[in-house]
Amino acid sequence: MTQARSAKSFSHGVHPAEHKQASSALPVERMPFVSLYTLPLSMHLGAPSRPVVQAGDQVRRGQVLAEPSGFVSTTLHSPATGRVVSMDLARHPNGQYVPCMMIEADPFDTQQFEPAEPIDWRALPIDGFIEHVQRAGLVGMGGAAFPTHVKYKLPEGKRCQRLVINGCECEPFLTCDHRLMLERPAAVVRGAEIVASKLGADSATIGVELNKSDAIAAVRHELPADGPIAVQPLKVKYPQGAEKMLIKAMFGVEVPAGKLPLDVDIVVNNVSTMAAITDYFERGQPLVERIVTVAGPGVDRPANLVVPIGTPVREVLQYCKINHEARQVVMGGPMMGMPLASLDVPVLKGTSGLLAFTEAALNHPNEYACIQCGRCLEACGNLLNPSRLARLARAELYDELHQEHVLDCMECGACTFACPSGVPVVHLIRAAKATIRKRGSKDA
Ligand code: SF4
Ligand code: SF4
Repeated sequence: MTQARSAKSFSHGVHPAEHKQASSALPVERMPFVSLYTLPLSMHLGAPSRPVVQAGDQVRRGQVLAEPSGFVSTTLHSPATGRVVSMDLARHPNGQYVPCMMIEADPFDTQQFEPAEPIDWRALPIDGFIEHVQRAGLVGMGGAAFPTHVKYKLPEGKRCQRLVINGCECEPFLTCDHRLMLERPAAVVRGAEIVASKLGADSATIGVELNKSDAIAAVRHELPADGPIAVQPLKVKYPQGAEKMLIKAMFGVEVPAGKLPLDVDIVVNNVSTMAAITDYFERGQPLVERIVTVAGPGVDRPANLVVPIGTPVREVLQYCKINHEARQVVMGGPMMGMPLASLDVPVLKGTSGLLAFTEAALNHPNEYACIQCGRCLEACGNLLNPSRLARLARAELYDELHQEHVLDCMECGACTFACPSGVPVVHLIRAAKATIRKRGSKDA
């Protein structure tokens, strides 16, 4: 009750049905190793990684396969002990064919990770720490897959006053972060301690929505008595996990349009990234696996699974008994996730969920004319005018769209969700943004 009273939130937003009950009580289990892993050299934002092994090489689990090819790039490690079988184009979940490395797992190997000595992170200068985070292959695990180390490189004159740890998991169906906080709260807190200390942050606050009260209690239990880390309960609302919304919810601070959290002295990381930081600095384990929620009416056995990166989606879904009713699989959450055109694509570092939907569960609303009801405006946490943006997008008026700050749209889909006329607002905006970016890069 006290918790509910002290819970914060941002203005606007929507309340989609949560659909978390099928997997929120299921402990994390480990998916068995499969025979072949496909690793795109680019599963993060930025430049693709550069291979340092060749077809035919034997590799160990956790061994570096590809190194960063620039600062905004990261390291790629083998998810299994085995052999590099090929480097070729293969299908990425986004539908494109991209350079990938294929690793055949050794069926006779135990695939146990051999822990290394802890790294003395306190002794590292900040640049050395950042180099380690890049070497660990860490990316934002909430979906965007932005290389984590880049966020830690504070530009001259900037400081990180507050570290924000995102434990909202506001997308329906997803429960991987919930289970992580419940089952490994010490790893989340330890990661927060490490990062807050290295960035010189005054405080670290873990934002968790109230529908995960058991996780709030578990993480609180691990907090050092007089440390700078706290847990902030948040009301349940979508899209609270979006960085700018989270900052607004927690501190009432507005990140101006076109600016980043760092412009208000804040760095935001996901709870999974914090646990991955702990795994790397305490036992040398780079990012070779992650927890994925597998759920939706199209699977008979929902689960929260530890899945090696590069595992084919088809194998994960078969393990969770995808049924004959399944019509569409979404990677990520239903609001911002990516519908897959093929199941023969790999799980990526940013894959938080695989959701299988039946025809009955797929929402194909009929589209009617906009009735100017304003519900999309009420839904938009970024204070945009979605109905106007949709109209301009249909009319292909790109200069006007630019003036209306279309590029600030985070494509959260809250407007589409709120629309009683079934106007595909976010789809129109997304397509317009892509055109504007293409035009911009041509002009450059
Ligand atoms: S306009 Fe963009 S940011 Fe606003 S609700 Fe729609 S998708 Fe979200
Ligand atoms: S919610 Fe739909 S119908 Fe209402 S103003 Fe927005 S686009 Fe128009």
